[in-house]
Amino acid sequence: MKEVKHYINGQYVGSASGRMFDNINPATGEVISQVHEAGEAEVDAAVKAARAALKGPWSKMTIDQRSKILHAVADGINARFDEFLEAECADTGKPKSLASHIDIPRGAANFKVFADMVKNVATEAFEMATPDGTGALNYAVRRPKGVIGVISPWNLPLLLMTWKVGPALACGNTVVVKPSEETPTTTALLGEVMKDAGVPDGVFNVVQGYGGDSAGAFLTAHPDVDGYTFTGETRTGELIMQNAAKGVRDISLELGGKNAGIVFADCDMDKAIEGTMRSAFANCGQVCLGTERVYVERSIFDEFVSRLKVEAEKLVIGPPDDAAANLGPLISQKQRDKVLSYYQQAVNDGATVVTGGGIPDMPDALKNGSWIQPTIWTGLSDDSAVINEEIFGPCCHIQPFDSEEEAIAQANRLPYGLASAIWTENLSRAARVAGQVEAGIVWVNSWFLRDLRTAFGGSKQSGIGREGGEHSLEFYTELKNICLKL
Ligand code: NAD
Repeated sequence: MKEVKHYINGQYVGSASGRMFDNINPATGEVISQVHEAGEAEVDAAVKAARAALKGPWSKMTIDQRSKILHAVADGINARFDEFLEAECADTGKPKSLASHIDIPRGAANFKVFADMVKNVATEAFEMATPDGTGALNYAVRRPKGVIGVISPWNLPLLLMTWKVGPALACGNTVVVKPSEETPTTTALLGEVMKDAGVPDGVFNVVQGYGGDSAGAFLTAHPDVDGYTFTGETRTGELIMQNAAKGVRDISLELGGKNAGIVFADCDMDKAIEGTMRSAFANCGQVCLGTERVYVERSIFDEFVSRLKVEAEKLVIGPPDDAAANLGPLISQKQRDKVLSYYQQAVNDGATVVTGGGIPDMPDALKNGSWIQPTIWTGLSDDSAVINEEIFGPCCHIQPFDSEEEAIAQANRLPYGLASAIWTENLSRAARVAGQVEAGIVWVNSWFLRDLRTAFGGSKQSGIGREGGEHSLEFYTELKNICLKL
């Protein structure tokens, strides 16, 4: 059976303890590999390698040289596109049609964008007067933060991990990455690409394992890491923050959400339906930016619900290789149990199940996969957990509203503030509502339209800090002011 190992100081290594766990393909339920689980010894070795590499050739390279190497990493991913695609789809079960357009190309693009950005971003300078009349010049320089611990989730494994590793390396840091235990393979494969691209040993390290009481916790407790960037659940973010507090280490947290879509009667209905379909069901609903709460102006409510139902029922559930499939399985049986518990809760709370609500009938070869039906509800009241807690499955609840104020109040009702999508052809209203919605990212008449130069992150319990564009440089560098007396 294939083994997935750690990548430490330029070498693939197993765990000294010999501990391994199963990597399961969620489309079939088959074990596809054995993954080494890092103990404290492997995590420590990876951090030491990253620390040592900070003083090695990586730190002596010019920005141009580093940038060139990161372009080679992106080219290396593209050159092995099919291998990355195969591995990502085996780990997640997602349709190849999706991963070939989003996960893998974005994984490569994340290196190019930041490799170019670091070459072009200026820092500040201030001239100042001094009593002796000669003056002084303040100017700022950026320095790498140091060793960065990167902890990533399973929903968009390569994409979300490189979203952090790309800028971290572009800024001259070294990294220790802990991918999700559900999706270890593409991060492991990236080690080979790094080596071939000329990234010096120790700059990029990977430790495999679980979160609590395993590789994730060991990494966040390690005293020699200078900062952590994490994407995952809000509760995990809290734990990581507690560990990072020891030694006053910096953190960037991209956390959960319970995002609202707001559909006004003056929207372009075709666009609103198409966008809401993607935002609720893309990646089997396992997108942090997805819309699980849809608020629709009452005059178009019935039409919207019936049109969304028709579209949801057209979704084709199937395995990665099925070219017609646009809905894969959930990541695991555990996640399916969680999502199904909300499906049951919705019924208990008196929801009208517009469509779905259960497990689809699949052919024998796929019977053990974590398949689930796309589901739409109406009729829940605001106190139902189904519309207050993040489900992270292919589902949404649709609720009518009567005024702009009510829609905004509903969108802002929860302690999350990640993303929102507003559908209206009235741009004054769009700007007015977007300005008042409490979210880090607001789309108007679109969803998941991403410009990598823009700020990305959540407000309230959806995160701390912003990554993307120059905002990533803020986190991955220390800005040093030099005051030069003239
Ligand atoms: P998760 O928090 O369970 O796990 C994320 C990572 O943290 C994994 O690598 C896991 O092993 C690790 N981890 C878990 N417990 C840990 C601990 N105690 N110490 C250190 N590491 C630990 O999240 P998930 O289930 O993998 O991902 C889904 C969640 O991620 C959802 O809540 C989703 O909204 C969120 N998410 C947010 C964004 C965003 O940009 N805001 C993007 C994608 C996903």
